[in-house]
Amino acid sequence: TKWDTKGDLDESKNLPIYQHKATLQQAVKDNSFLVVTGETGSGKTTQLPQYLHQAGLWGNGKIGITQPRRVAAITVAQRVSQEMHCSLGREVGYQVRFDDCTTQDTVVKYMTDGCLLREILADPVLSQYSVVILDEAHERSLNTDILLGLLKQTLSSPDKASKGRSVPLKVVVMSATLETDKLSVFLGGCPVFTIPGRTFPVTSKFSCAIGPKDTESSVYVKEVVKVALDVHTSEMAGDILVFLTGQSEIEKACDMLYEKAESIDYRYDVQDRKVEGLLILPLYGSMPTDQQKQIFQPPPPGIRKCVVATNIAATSLTINGIKYIVDSGFVKQLNHNSRVGMDILEVVPISKSEALQRAGRAGRTSAGKCFRIYSQEFWEKCMPKYTVPEIQRTSLTTVILTLKCLGVHDVIRFPYLDRPEERFIIEALKQLYQCDAIDRRGKVTRLGELMVQFPLPPGLTRALLQAASLGCEDLLLPVAAMLSVENIFIRPGHPEKQKEADKKHRQLGVQAGSCNDFTMLLSVFEKCKASDAPSAWCKDNYIHWRALKSAFSVETQLREILLRQQNRRDFPMEKFDGNKSELFRRCLCTGYFTNVARRSVGKVFCTMDGHGSMVHIHPSSTLFDQEAQLDWVIFHDLLVTSRIYIRTVCPIRYDWVKDLLPKLHEVDVYELSSVARE
Ligand code: ADP
Ligand code: MG
Repeated sequence: TKWDTKGDLDESKNLPIYQHKATLQQAVKDNSFLVVTGETGSGKTTQLPQYLHQAGLWGNGKIGITQPRRVAAITVAQRVSQEMHCSLGREVGYQVRFDDCTTQDTVVKYMTDGCLLREILADPVLSQYSVVILDEAHERSLNTDILLGLLKQTLSSPDKASKGRSVPLKVVVMSATLETDKLSVFLGGCPVFTIPGRTFPVTSKFSCAIGPKDTESSVYVKEVVKVALDVHTSEMAGDILVFLTGQSEIEKACDMLYEKAESIDYRYDVQDRKVEGLLILPLYGSMPTDQQKQIFQPPPPGIRKCVVATNIAATSLTINGIKYIVDSGFVKQLNHNSRVGMDILEVVPISKSEALQRAGRAGRTSAGKCFRIYSQEFWEKCMPKYTVPEIQRTSLTTVILTLKCLGVHDVIRFPYLDRPEERFIIEALKQLYQCDAIDRRGKVTRLGELMVQFPLPPGLTRALLQAASLGCEDLLLPVAAMLSVENIFIRPGHPEKQKEADKKHRQLGVQAGSCNDFTMLLSVFEKCKASDAPSAWCKDNYIHWRALKSAFSVETQLREILLRQQNRRDFPMEKFDGNKSELFRRCLCTGYFTNVARRSVGKVFCTMDGHGSMVHIHPSSTLFDQEAQLDWVIFHDLLVTSRIYIRTVCPIRYDWVKDLLPKLHEVDVYELSSVARE
């Protein structure tokens, strides 16, 4: 064949999985379900798909591998394309939301679990695939859990499974930790293959710096920096991996490390004479992929590498040469907040099993050390034993709509690996009803079928479709795109620079005319697009050029989905007479009337969704400090610190939501879930 698979990079032969190549190839051929488990770094993600490729399993369709995290999908695909000596996007490719790097030649496809779920919508038996590998199943991401249930359902009903397929689909589930019995039982008692691995002892030390009350980010960022520098100056050669919570904390920590590392005198301050420099590398989800590549390269001789990462380095990506771990004890997690009735990204203590996983990263190739910046008391009092699966702690709205569109009406009795609480399912049904995606009896509406095709949150999709039906999608498409990418506005750490950035952003807001955060996004999008030198324009206005570039691409993709729908004759159209600004805000209201707040006193607003939370406008909003002139507003999301902040805000008139608001309260929950009962 034209695929040269003999020339694997040599290191891959030293990975624990290599010994079991033939056994694994056979096991996949012999079973429709197989669970594979092994230590992180044993070679599951990078090697098994290649083994199956070499065994010819791609002859009946692609080999698809899902990852909960987009960075992992991209990075691993890059690596594997190198190992298989092809350029990325050819035999080996990846697909993540809004970024498809595959071609007709692609036979080994890495993707996010969300992407595969969307593919199932279009093709329930996955006729394009011969093997599907659900990787990182121990992470228990919402989408992977749903995929597990769907594939179990499809494959266990023979007529469903063979429909539209010549050869039955093979499913492999891969997991790092040992919850594998549960997985095997769930999948009808399928075999479990364990890759034996050697790990070296890791000694872990607690410290008294962080106690149960210290959740302030400035405290733990400072502390990990101090400990990492201690390790650097007092420990023998070997690289350091610091676990932190997110991009801004990581950038802060790296800045502090650069600054302090500069003043180290390697003649006196550092114990190990072989170490004479520190290479500081950040690692987080939204960073450019060429920068991520550096993480895997060994440092120059004499230089110690220090990677400051999010949880992504815990199991999805393995960095060789790590001997020391600095564990902050925290993670950023999306949780349903019952106080405000919405999902919120918050910083929480990691679980004990997570802490052990983090520590384990130091003992892959030799004995290592783990420095925990928190106390034993923190471990005992604040850290749960296991991490709660995402399906039991976040909003199920999108997933339930997907299930319904797949014909799974009984969303309550769907085979969940861990069942979410019924009230979460009901909550999702209510939200779908409120944005017209399902009817009173829980059946998917025509609008719901259109909505599910957009990889956006339901409220935003609803607003976009409303705009499209009124012929003003050009106003909403850029906004939807801008809300789908991260960090548009640069907020410099330096106070002087921050002032200047704020000023520039305010100017942009004024130029946007009718002042609200949504039109601000629209205006930035349009201005930059019209500019002759867009990257210079961004720099000048403290806007992230990379984020804007992605927003341009996202907008094009959303437009394509919409165009496909509009080209069909039954796309609903309405008429509206009135000015553009009102039209724009009214469209937003159709999607965001669930996020309405009314000013009560001073700068305090009260949400109208039945939770009656007291909220403040976030300082990053163009409406900040103008509260006195506002009455009713809608908002895109919430940020909870000591206060609850609303972000991306727009003033509205009560008239526009008056008829919609009753929908928030008059839902017959019994009837809504009736399809499930039939
Ligand atoms: P597992 O999935 O079992 O955790 P992986 O297949 O991810 O293991 O990793 C196997 C090896 O491949 C590790 O030694 C890791 O460092 C290496 N590796 C993975 N991705 C890359 C990359 N992008 N660049 C360099 N090495 C990599
Ligand atoms: Mg892996």
